[in-house]
Amino acid sequence: MNILAIGAHPDDIEMQCAGTLALYKEMGHSIFIAVATNGNVGSPDLSLVEIADIRHKEQAKSCDIIGAELIWMDFEDEWLFNDRPTRTRFIDAIRQAKPDIIIAHGPTDYHPDHRAVAQLSEDARIPSSIRLVETSLPHLDHVPHLFFMDNVAGIGFEPEAYVNISSVIEVKRQMLLCHKSQDEWMRSLYGDCSITDLMEKNAAHRGAALGANYAEAFKEVKTFPQSGSYSLLPQI
Ligand SMILES: [Zn+2]
Repeated sequence: MNILAIGAHPDDIEMQCAGTLALYKEMGHSIFIAVATNGNVGSPDLSLVEIADIRHKEQAKSCDIIGAELIWMDFEDEWLFNDRPTRTRFIDAIRQAKPDIIIAHGPTDYHPDHRAVAQLSEDARIPSSIRLVETSLPHLDHVPHLFFMDNVAGIGFEPEAYVNISSVIEVKRQMLLCHKSQDEWMRSLYGDCSITDLMEKNAAHRGAALGANYAEAFKEVKTFPQSGSYSLLPQI
């Protein structure tokens, strides 16, 4: 299968579903990571252009760890909207990856860019398979399944499926550590709370629900034409 994960910012995919992607990779599937914004506000001292360039390189390095293809949409951080140009770009990202499964943020996430990705992913999913929705790429011959992923600290997210990521937690940690600029920024904002600390606490919390050391949590989008797709998630 082809798996496409769509995150709003560099490091979001690593936080919420990189373990699941690593498992899919081990199973022989092809992984695509799409990042909607360039993360250009994520610095206490660098310019918009400088930090965007660093974050692009950090994301590429993380993708290399699991051999994922990076789709860098390059919208501005904090200004992602569900308008026609943006939805068209999302359709093209889906058409490029030809995914069987899309994983994206959920609609109750804390960040406006995350919520925009949730809506854009859901709204681009079906048009990506419609011939007369014309973009720069040809339409798919199927409608991909869509899962929403957990959010940081899991607040307001009621999981319906868990993936045991205990065997790949180190891969997830190493991918997250590629986002060095964000680790430093998080520490400057929240003291000792690094992005890896946050990730591990969340993964351990979700793991407890599963009786595992670490897990990631998901919900399925239950709209026509698919439902009941949880068996497509990696089964450990
Ligand atoms: Zn984010």
